[in-house]
Amino acid sequence: METGKIIKVSGPLIVAEGMGNCKMFDVVQVSDKKLIGEVIELRGDRASIQVYEETSGLGPGENVYSTGEPLSVELGPGLIEGIYDGIQRPLARMLEVSGDRIGRGVSVSALDHAKKWVFVPTVSVGDEVEAGSVIGTVQENVLILHKIMVPYGVSGTVKEIKAGAYTIDDAVAIITTKKGDVKVTMLQKWPVRKGRPYKEKLAPSAPLITGQRVIDTLFPVAKGGVAAVPGPFGSGKTVVQHQLAKWADADIIVYVGCGERGNEMTDVLNEFPSLIDPHSGQPLMKRTVLIANTSDMPVAAREASIYTGITIAEYFRDMGYSVAIMADSTSRWAEALREMSGRLEEMPGEEGYPAYLSSRLAEFYERAGIVKVLGQDSTVGSITAIGAVSPPGGDLSEPVSQATLRIVKVFWGLSASLAYKRHFPAVDWLQSYSLYADRLKNWYDDNVGDEWIKLRAACMRILQEEAALDEIVRLVGMDALSPSNRLTMETAKSIREDYLHQNAFHEVDTYTSLEKQQYMLRIIMYFHNLASDALDKNVDIEDILELKVREKIGRAKYIPETEMAKFDDLLAEIKAEMLTLTDGGEIDA
Ligand code: ADP
Ligand code: MG
Repeated sequence: METGKIIKVSGPLIVAEGMGNCKMFDVVQVSDKKLIGEVIELRGDRASIQVYEETSGLGPGENVYSTGEPLSVELGPGLIEGIYDGIQRPLARMLEVSGDRIGRGVSVSALDHAKKWVFVPTVSVGDEVEAGSVIGTVQENVLILHKIMVPYGVSGTVKEIKAGAYTIDDAVAIITTKKGDVKVTMLQKWPVRKGRPYKEKLAPSAPLITGQRVIDTLFPVAKGGVAAVPGPFGSGKTVVQHQLAKWADADIIVYVGCGERGNEMTDVLNEFPSLIDPHSGQPLMKRTVLIANTSDMPVAAREASIYTGITIAEYFRDMGYSVAIMADSTSRWAEALREMSGRLEEMPGEEGYPAYLSSRLAEFYERAGIVKVLGQDSTVGSITAIGAVSPPGGDLSEPVSQATLRIVKVFWGLSASLAYKRHFPAVDWLQSYSLYADRLKNWYDDNVGDEWIKLRAACMRILQEEAALDEIVRLVGMDALSPSNRLTMETAKSIREDYLHQNAFHEVDTYTSLEKQQYMLRIIMYFHNLASDALDKNVDIEDILELKVREKIGRAKYIPETEMAKFDDLLAEIKAEMLTLTDGGEIDA
């Protein structure tokens, strides 16, 4: 082990000399306390090292030991349900070792190396395998079938294959390669700063269904897509991320709680383990990996946490799963980057962020996507990445928001004024966008029906008309509006209040299937179309607005998923009530 000496300590950054044999991003152990650090700059034999633990008490002259290895994560059975810090140290086990505060230099491995998992082989002796080939499976829990894959760089013929209970360090297969026999275990290691390879990136073609109406209907994100949720403090970023973690139809969730206030992560740590996955009836944690780096934890580990998270996501993607990763918040991550850059005395860019801020952000989001995975014929896996952005004061002109907006394809802009009016989710429908909406058209046509795109367009059009009419009302007052304009205003209000507004904390309202979303929109638009027809027949707008059925439309969001027939009754009721105004005359919608 190469040894250098500390010459300077600056918060989480130390400088050591005698490090000539190190490589960039090598992991080092600092002082005899063995604090974990990573080389982030090398000049001659001087290394700048970001230390993932408290550095107080360290001083010049102390030793630095190089490990010669890059910062890596352990990948294998036992990952699911894991709760880790930013460099994949298991929080619960660290607390066991060091008491109620996490001590320094505590060395606990990420996965349990003593536990035995039942390995079920899926290949036989003599089979040809390559990197990514599945050689067996482990039923990690009731939800997740963990696929054991041939590690990168290995290909050849299966010489030996085991079956039965093994630890992650036991060889479960021996593969004869050109360079000799290779033992394969259930454990892989991967350097977090390097994307895991795949065969081919594909164009996203299906939506990630979230059960959140404003997202699924107006601003969908594709499976394998990238989205950002910017918004000021209190606008609902964390609730959106939690809702996605709970409800998105992904196989695996990786949740990176990144530098947010301490108590928020405690919420996650307390709340997540008690949540039930609505799709399976099992605890949500059984398909989740949590990475927690709150504001009270060392800043450098926060910088690493999103790479740790996305590497774990890639590993499950490589098994052919759809993975969703949430990072809350990328702004806190960027602040960690800024702090390290400042201590390195790099030339600061805009607002003190380093010039490489946008390329680092892009590198993270580029690791999302839908791909053909290695070694498994045409198996496809995906990572959908959703980053919260918390611009100071909600001002999107700041560097982190700007850099993010250049990368992501979906933008759910949360508005302070909507949040203030308690319109949640506070997604601003005039500012937000999804560049996937058109590309997903075929998927909706095939899976929901071609009415979906039409309803969506009608909904968007009415919201935009409302914005234009609002201007007129502001100038000349409501009285200036024609009856048909008034109807548009009322329908827009109904779309906002009865449809877009969705209470995350209401048992039924928290999740809406696409089928129910379509029904809900259909009744709103059906009412609108019949009402417009009635206006053409000189029915008074006031009479239309007084129809009792409007109240039922307002409560339709509370109709349970199991009682969809109620929507058909409601459509019939709308028609019947409207007919009372047109004296039973024909109305066509
Ligand atoms: P941020 O992370 O942007 O600071 P939060 O996600 O913590 O904001 O949201 C702040 C508060 O807003 C929540 O505690 C909750 O009361 C309310 N809220 C946000 N979204 C919703 C929602 N979909 N339904 C109901 N309440 C919500
Ligand atoms: Mg938050």
